[in-house]
Amino acid sequence: MGTLSYDYADTVTLVTGGASGIGRAISEAFAAAGGMVAIADINLEAAQSAVGAIEAMGGRARAFHVDVADENSVRALIDAIWADLGRLDHAINNAGIEANTVPLADLDSDNWRRVTDVNLSAIFYCMKAQLRSFLDRGVTGAIVNTASISGLIGGYNLAAYTATKHAVVGLTKAASMDYAAQGIRINALCPGLVDTPFIAALPQPFMDRLVFAIPMGRPGRADEMAKAVLWLCSDDASYVTGHAMVVDGGTSLGGTGTK
Ligand code: NAD
Repeated sequence: MGTLSYDYADTVTLVTGGASGIGRAISEAFAAAGGMVAIADINLEAAQSAVGAIEAMGGRARAFHVDVADENSVRALIDAIWADLGRLDHAINNAGIEANTVPLADLDSDNWRRVTDVNLSAIFYCMKAQLRSFLDRGVTGAIVNTASISGLIGGYNLAAYTATKHAVVGLTKAASMDYAAQGIRINALCPGLVDTPFIAALPQPFMDRLVFAIPMGRPGRADEMAKAVLWLCSDDASYVTGHAMVVDGGTSLGGTGTK
């Protein structure tokens, strides 16, 4: 079986939340394909360590600090990438956080606001700054927003998370229509359960139920998400925009019956 390979030499890709999990795998995949990667994270130390790992493999990456929930921080990040790296071709808006896993009436309002800020408003801030920089310079770039299958189906005890991820899919579709004529493609990645530090914090009984619901019987790997993102940004996906790409081992198929 062949493996698709890409040439991302002479491109710069921004990955938010690139210091860990899915974002880190995406950063490593773009670097392995020859690209320069801007790894932007609220945890600068972890971003620097991800850069170190990429450089040790012979790749190119730079670490940047950002709080994606802060519009000024996002604007400063995009300016810094253009100033330091001279271009921006792809933006992977991937940083996200989990909400408290409780029924809606027990959900703390501060938690609701933080999840909404980081998972949803941040995607708006990021796309706004990225698109403005593309338009000002005539760049026909590609954007991928990390949503979730929680952006397509419901989930128990996940009201804030589910609401924000549905909104990310909606924002992706709306933005993709606004800029399709300019050749800028905007898609969403909808992972199912993926083995990253993100899910390590989930309570074990909750995890067991999630894994039971996966037809393929296992969580996904971060590199399996990265492969989908590399394809979405490539010329092979030149007619794909506004798409919510599901990579979930069949989880979102739902269905009746027993295993
Ligand atoms: P992770 O916790 O391993 O990585 C998230 C990264 O985002 C971390 O490096 C963290 O420091 C960074 N981050 C958090 N808040 C930030 C902020 N305000 N500004 C900048 N960076 C910030 O998580 P992951 O599993 O790799 O998740 C990445 C994305 O994938 C998230 O959007 C998440 O919702 C989504 N997702 C994850 C799963 C899963 O099962 N792991 C499933 C579906 C969707």
